[in-house]
Amino acid sequence: MAEYDYDLFVIGAGSGGVRAARIAANYGAKVAVAEEYRVGGTCVIRGCVPKKLFVYASHFSDDFEDAAGFGWTVGETKFDWKTLVSRKDKEIDRLNGIYIRNLEKAGVEIIDGRATVKDAHTIQIDGHEREITAERILVAVGATPFLPDIPGIEHAITSNEAFHLEELPRRVVVVGGGYIAVEFAGIFNGLGVETMQLYRGPLFMRGFDDDLRDLLSEEMTKKGIDLRMNSDIVSIEKKDGELHLTLNDGDTISTDCVMYATGRVPNTKGLGLEEAGVKLGMAGEVVVDEYSQSSVESIYAVGDVTDRANLTPVAIREGHAFADTVYGGKDVKVDHSIIPTAIFSQPEMGTVGLTEAQAREQYDEVDIYKTAFRALKNTLSDSQERTFMKLIVDARSDKVLGVHIMGSGAGEVIQAIGIAVTMGATKAQFDATIAVHPTAAEELVTMKEKWQAPVIKAAD
Ligand code: NDP
Repeated sequence: MAEYDYDLFVIGAGSGGVRAARIAANYGAKVAVAEEYRVGGTCVIRGCVPKKLFVYASHFSDDFEDAAGFGWTVGETKFDWKTLVSRKDKEIDRLNGIYIRNLEKAGVEIIDGRATVKDAHTIQIDGHEREITAERILVAVGATPFLPDIPGIEHAITSNEAFHLEELPRRVVVVGGGYIAVEFAGIFNGLGVETMQLYRGPLFMRGFDDDLRDLLSEEMTKKGIDLRMNSDIVSIEKKDGELHLTLNDGDTISTDCVMYATGRVPNTKGLGLEEAGVKLGMAGEVVVDEYSQSSVESIYAVGDVTDRANLTPVAIREGHAFADTVYGGKDVKVDHSIIPTAIFSQPEMGTVGLTEAQAREQYDEVDIYKTAFRALKNTLSDSQERTFMKLIVDARSDKVLGVHIMGSGAGEVIQAIGIAVTMGATKAQFDATIAVHPTAAEELVTMKEKWQAPVIKAAD
């Protein structure tokens, strides 16, 4: 007779949890997964997927304008927010269904409700009397938006609510300078909302290559976003149906909607982990080793709750590696050192490997290749948007350490370039690759001149 109800109990049916549950079940483990909201998790339900659909929607305003340069008369255009939201919801329902079916097909039992950890092998589900036992517990509960504690913060929304707004606001203020803030500022602006973005430091997108940060701020400003650095809200007041914001410089602003995108915190509050002996870090993240094992032998964690690299494909890889290692008899660790990523800002950005600043810190001699140009399409459309590409090369070994791209399709390009960089390709191997013409990406294999200009470091 089995000692436990399940071999594996997964808390959270998001990207990492679902992958781990399915693979473990495929290896023959008896698996259950508990989800308190909707199967699919942040990425599918209220993150990457609906966000990208909104990005597509918001691009049409530029596309209609561009079309004129190619001889098209587009005529009067009109955008209906409710149509977008309901069509997006339908697609998310479809994906949610696929996730549920895939879990069921793999033999994973899905339990609706919030699970908390009682001890190393015991789980309690809200509203269920009986406690559940499992040989191992996988914590894959993700993260939740962080909101600073300022007067009136209850009037602000986060990306969670942005996907379900009843009406598209006429004016919006987006707070923050990371992935979500730049992506949503672009979405709102493209949909015709008067958009302001506030970032508390001197230059947003901290941690990205300084050239990308500079250029993105210029391009977003050119598109009409009122981008304010060194700016933050100290209080929000709701009066006469409007929100009145007081900024750190004393300025006051009226708007219809304030969206905070000021980071996310691991969802461990009230989960019972510390009581069960699981070590948590400063931000509440589950501290894990390279096999995603926590300080309690039977409790593992993957994805954003571990605050390693908070990206869906990383969570999926961590979940898969956990299942392969624990249930598949393989020894699989996830390499977090090179992670290609795309930011669906407008213009889009793609990046892999080291930034110039990181490379200069870690290597004696670094060669920089960079180019900025107007893409061919923009010659007829008259769009002034620039495309930018930058290669960072270790001068000694000729290895390409980092690639940073801004421009249309940057996310698609960086996925392929990520293979080369992960393989350790050299600049000579980039150059030996025949260019695809006419594309913007051909610049990546045709840049010959080393960048000579002095390095200007953006202040952090
Ligand atoms: P980020 O951590 O990327 O950015 C948070 C931003 O908020 C930073 O600019 C930060 O400033 C600022 N901030 C933090 N605290 C405060 C505060 N108290 N007051 C004012 N500003 C503050 O978080 P996001 O919310 O943008 O995204 C969360 C995660 O989701 C990211 O880690 C990312 O990995 C993931 N994501 C990935 C996407 C993709 O792959 N395309 C898309 C969306 C999200 P400072 O820099 O000064 O600390």
